[in-house]
Amino acid sequence: MSTVTADTVEHWINGKTVSGASKRTGPVFDPARGEVAREVRLASTADVDSAVQAAKDAFPDWSGASWAKRQQVLFAFREILNARKGEVAAILTSEHGKVTADALGEVARGLEVVEFACGVAHLAKGEYSENVSTGVDVYSLHQALGVVGIISPFNFPAMVPLWFFPIAIAVGNTVVLKPSEKDPSASLWMARALKEAGLPDGVFNVVHGDKESVDALLEHPDVASISFVGSTPIAKYIYETASKHGKRVQALGGAKNHMLVLPDADLDLVADSAVNAGFGSAGERCMAISVVIAVEPVADDLIAKITERMSGLTVGDGTRGCDMGPLITKEHRDKVASYIDVATTDGAVVVVDGRGVKADGEADGFWLGPTLIDKVPLTSRVYTEEIFGPVLSIVRVNSYEEGLAIINASRYGNGTAIFTNDGGAARRFQNEVHVGMIGINVPIPVPVGYFSFGGWKDSLFGDTKAYGPDAIHFFTRQKAITSRWLDPSHGGINLGFPQN
Ligand code: NAD
Repeated sequence: MSTVTADTVEHWINGKTVSGASKRTGPVFDPARGEVAREVRLASTADVDSAVQAAKDAFPDWSGASWAKRQQVLFAFREILNARKGEVAAILTSEHGKVTADALGEVARGLEVVEFACGVAHLAKGEYSENVSTGVDVYSLHQALGVVGIISPFNFPAMVPLWFFPIAIAVGNTVVLKPSEKDPSASLWMARALKEAGLPDGVFNVVHGDKESVDALLEHPDVASISFVGSTPIAKYIYETASKHGKRVQALGGAKNHMLVLPDADLDLVADSAVNAGFGSAGERCMAISVVIAVEPVADDLIAKITERMSGLTVGDGTRGCDMGPLITKEHRDKVASYIDVATTDGAVVVVDGRGVKADGEADGFWLGPTLIDKVPLTSRVYTEEIFGPVLSIVRVNSYEEGLAIINASRYGNGTAIFTNDGGAARRFQNEVHVGMIGINVPIPVPVGYFSFGGWKDSLFGDTKAYGPDAIHFFTRQKAITSRWLDPSHGGINLGFPQN
């Protein structure tokens, strides 16, 4: 269906907005009002071809530009993004629904990666060995891949693209970004800011769309790599399809993050952390805490403390100073709410039911209040599935070992946290747990920009994490050069390998 309005979100190709050939569009909601705010273009394969061609044409000059030139552009982009982060946060709140403070936090985490990219020349240096054989030197180079594709999810419309494109661009690649069609406008803001920062046209392109545009990127012969973030079934599909088409792929998937609480933990700190990490961003974070595993006898005390804190949380329009905003769409809100029925059917205890929440916002907003469910059976879908909403489960166990075994049996391995005052137990946990990012008395252990971000198991397909040092590896390929410059002593035939 085509419903083009004055406010239709367009593609960004070769330094300007482009409507493209496709007549298809999709709705972009204001989730706090529960109504369609604007439409977004849904690209056809031909539209993706145009974006890839623009990126391909821009590649020779951009990859050949000096490190100084590329870093100056990124530094200027950093200044624009930092000075005008309030504009980006307002876009995030209006399309995603997250509250203003949280939206500003998202931009801040993205800025970290831009800052890292400003100094990335240091990490992209090659190595040099003199005289590996007499008069022979060997050195290595890191060169850009070409056109790189980025496909991002709805929950971090600014931060997740920022995990990838600053470093990809800094090392000389050109980019086609396919953001989530649910909240597409932040990507256009960043495209305009990059141009203002001096980025040549064609280096950064945005195509909006759904499966058709994603498949076009995955199969395109001129796209060298795919960086994907989203749900596990799609991540697996992306990994398999793009690999089959000869691309380098990193596909970050879904999560179900556990917080293990030992009996010696500070329960006030645990309760604060569980509430912040369970309900921040309405639970729509891949690093949200979804399950608290309480080692007895602490569960009853902990639940009392969590419940008390939940009673003070406010839900509403993200611009009104509330703690928590709406969910992304009505369908998603209804799906998340349906797990509360599943919990009751499966014999769990619903301690706080968010379905009746009184929100400070429009009646049709996609509201669901914070929800707490105790005694969740490990066989229940409430435990086994990623809910991606403000639903916190409690599982009671009798020992550290029992809790650890539950975490290690999970199909996901994105983040986890242990809360304890016992350094030995924490050290044992960091060694024994099968998860990529671990917090010790820290509930959301997202690594800073100069480490790399990524999980294990079904939370990451591919062997390279996002940003930090892994990104240099992912976005470049290495050459090793063996060189000899003749001097007067050279001469003679020798069919063997050089020995000295
Ligand atoms: P999603 O998988 O539905 O969509 C992600 C991207 O894939 C979007 O750009 C979307 O347009 C595209 N897409 C959707 N369906 C597709 C299909 N059938 N074929 C091809 N492309 C398709 O994810 P979402 O709902 O936007 O985001 C939430 C999910 O992302 C959660 O599962 C969350 O855990 C995960 N996530 C993971 C991380 C991480 O770092 N591991 C970070 C953020 C979000």
